[in-house]
Amino acid sequence: MKIFKIILVGDSGVGKSSFINRFCHHNFDQFQRVTIGNYPGLHNKPVIIDDKVVMLEIWDTVGQERFDSLPRSYFRRADGIIALFDITSKDSFENIPTWLSHIEDWVENPPLLIMVGNKLDISDQRKVSIEDGFQMAFDHNAMYAETSARTGEHVFETCHQLAR
Ligand code: GDP
Repeated sequence: MKIFKIILVGDSGVGKSSFINRFCHHNFDQFQRVTIGNYPGLHNKPVIIDDKVVMLEIWDTVGQERFDSLPRSYFRRADGIIALFDITSKDSFENIPTWLSHIEDWVENPPLLIMVGNKLDISDQRKVSIEDGFQMAFDHNAMYAETSARTGEHVFETCHQLAR
């Protein structure tokens, strides 16, 4: 079985743990606390692409605010990157290029990149326009999606798109 190593990056509080929880474990914990910790977590999820099962091995950077404390070996052989931000937080959006520049430095072969604006369920509080999202994704050669880990909207489609 093919295994794809996917790394999830983004500011603390954008919903990385919730996104993984939704995709890998089909649930959402509204009382999920902002995660803090020093070690990335690993989650496995099989997906079916064109009648073939592939395994997504998703690494959560578990609220790494201090990115430099992550071991470089962690990023070296990634197949895909999910760069998550919160559409209601301009800061989390503006920090995306910083996350990506670290990855460019550290990953051996440029992996597939998808930029994801999360918390689509509260888009009435949106601070980042879809146009700005698409533009930044375009500038970084990335795909673009918007999701809600809370409702599950577009979470599966986004991961399937990346796997495909
Ligand atoms: P992390 O630090 O990036 O892992 O973020 P968490 O998964 O811990 O989520 C941070 C906070 O945002 C928590 O209070 C979550 O309940 C909330 N959250 C995560 N995803 C969503 C979402 O799609 N919609 C809404 N409204 N809240 C979310």
